[in-house]
Amino acid sequence: MAIYPDSIEKLIQCLIKLPGIGRRSAERIVSYILNVQEDRVRHLVQNIQQVKKTIRLCRICRNFSETDICAICQDSKRDNSLLCIVENPQDVMAIEKSGNFNGLYHVLGGAISPLEDKGHKDLRIQSLFLRIKQGNVEEIILAMDADAEGEATALYLTQLLKPTQIKLSRIGMGIPSGANLEYVDSTTLASALDGRRAIQK
Ligand SMILES: [Zn+2]
Repeated sequence: MAIYPDSIEKLIQCLIKLPGIGRRSAERIVSYILNVQEDRVRHLVQNIQQVKKTIRLCRICRNFSETDICAICQDSKRDNSLLCIVENPQDVMAIEKSGNFNGLYHVLGGAISPLEDKGHKDLRIQSLFLRIKQGNVEEIILAMDADAEGEATALYLTQLLKPTQIKLSRIGMGIPSGANLEYVDSTTLASALDGRRAIQK
C-alpha cells in the first residue's frame, strides 16, 4: 500500500471526518488542493473561518443567521400565525426554496434518536412552547424527515401539542419514505406542504 507523506495523510484524516466524504473523495480533494493556485486555497480557508465567525442561530427560531434575529423572523410580511417545525436549519432552506410557505419556522436542532442517544430533552421544545404562549400561533405544521427519527419526533410533538388545541398538520404526501427533507426537490416539497394532512383541526 502506498504511503503518503505525513502532512497529506493528516489532511486526508481531517477530510474523512466531513459528512459524505470517504477516503477516495478525500484523496481527490487533496489532489485538487495541491494542484490549484494558492490564493484559491486561501479563499476557501477564509470562507470556512468567516462562516464559523459570523453565523449564529436566530434567537427566536434557531435558524442560521448573521444577526441576532434572522431575516425570516424580522420580515413583517410573513404570517406569524403559521409555524412550521423542522429538524435543522437546512430544512428551512429547503422549504424556502419551494416558495410555498409564508409562515415562520421553529428549528428543533435534530430529531429523537435512540441510536444516537438523542432524546426530547436535546430538542428545543421548551422554547417552542414559550413562542406558542407569547405569540398568536393558529396553525402548526410538523415538517420532520420521513425516516424513523422524524416519525418518532412528529409523534412525540403531536402528543405534546394536542392539549394546546392549535390546528396541527403534518407534511408527508409525496415525500419518499426515509428521505431527508433537505434533499427533497422543491416541487415535491411544495406539493407536500399543500397536501399536508390535518392531525388536529
Ligand atoms: Zn428566526
